[in-house]
Amino acid sequence: MNLTSNVDQSLQASGKVLLGLDIGGTKTAALVVDERLNQLSAISRPTETGNPEGLVAGVIATVREALKNAQIPASELIGIGVAVPGLVDPHRGVVELAVNLNLESYPLGRALAVELGAPAYLENDVRTAAMGAYQFARQEEPLRHLAYLSIGTGIAAGLVLSGQLYRGANGMAGEIGHIVVEPQGPMCGCGMAGCFEAVASGTAIARMGQKQMDLGGQLITAEFVYKAASQGHEAAKAIIQQVSVYLSQAIQLLIMAYDVEKVVLGGGVTKPGPAFLEPILGQLSLLRAQSALAEAMLPATKVTILPAGYNAGVWGAIMLATGTPVYAPA
Ligand SMILES: [Zn+2]
Repeated sequence: MNLTSNVDQSLQASGKVLLGLDIGGTKTAALVVDERLNQLSAISRPTETGNPEGLVAGVIATVREALKNAQIPASELIGIGVAVPGLVDPHRGVVELAVNLNLESYPLGRALAVELGAPAYLENDVRTAAMGAYQFARQEEPLRHLAYLSIGTGIAAGLVLSGQLYRGANGMAGEIGHIVVEPQGPMCGCGMAGCFEAVASGTAIARMGQKQMDLGGQLITAEFVYKAASQGHEAAKAIIQQVSVYLSQAIQLLIMAYDVEKVVLGGGVTKPGPAFLEPILGQLSLLRAQSALAEAMLPATKVTILPAGYNAGVWGAIMLATGTPVYAPA
C-alpha cells in the first residue's frame, strides 16, 4: 500500500477498472468505474450479516453482478476500495470491530483481495464518505481542506486536510458525535450523557418527536419530524430549531478547529435538503451578526449538502481503490 500518495493525485496505475464497495449493515453498494473514473455500473444489494464467510460470499456475489453488468471480467480489476461501518486497520486490511456486520478482528481486505485478485483498501465508512464528498466538492471548485459531517442514526465527521484523509492516531479523527454538548442531556450509546449524537442524530430527533409531538403510538422518524415542521407543526418546529442549534455548533467546531474551506453534510437525516439546511444556516447567520470573527469564518457558502443522487460512500471507496487511501506520514 502506498502511504505517501494523496487524494489529489490523478490515477497513476495504467490498469483497467476500479471497484468501490460500501458495505452497510443492511445494504452493500458496489460501483465499477474505468481508469478515467467514468461509471460503468452501480448496484446495491442486501448485506449478509450472519457470519464473516457468508458476508464475504454475499459481497463477492454483489461484485460479480456489478462486473457482469459492466461486461468486465474480474481479471481487469486493479483496485478495490471498501467502506466499513466500524473500526478498521487500513494498513493490515483488518476490520477490528464492525458490530452491524458481525465482524471482529477479521481480515476482510485479504479475503476480498484473494477472491477478486486485486489489492483491497479498507477504511471506516464515514472517513471514506469524506473522501467521496471531497471528490465531489473539488469538482465544483478547487479546495484542499474539507470536513464531512454525517448525520444519520449517529453523528460522525471525516476530515480531508491538505488533500489527504486525516485519520488521527487511532483512525478516530472526526468522532465528534461523542462530544458532550448538554451534560444534563439524554444518555448516549457511548455511556456519556448529552453527546451531539444523543441530542441531534436521526435517532434523537425521532425520539424527541415520539415524546413531544403528541401523536399517540404512531412511529415517528426524523424525516417525519422535518416534514411536520415544514407544515407548521409547532412541536416539530421546536425540535428542528433545537437540533439545528446543535448542528450549527458541530459545524462551527469543525470550521474553527480545522479551518476547512467546506463542511459538507450527508447522511440519511439530510434527505429533506433545504428544509434540513436552512434552519442551520439561520443559526450560523445569527453568529455572524454577533462577531467579525464569525462573519469571516462562518459564511453560508462554506456549508453544503451532498446532492441526493451522489453516493459519497462508493465514490470515496473508489478513491481508496486508486491506492491513495490514507494520510501521508511526515
Ligand atoms: Zn456519545
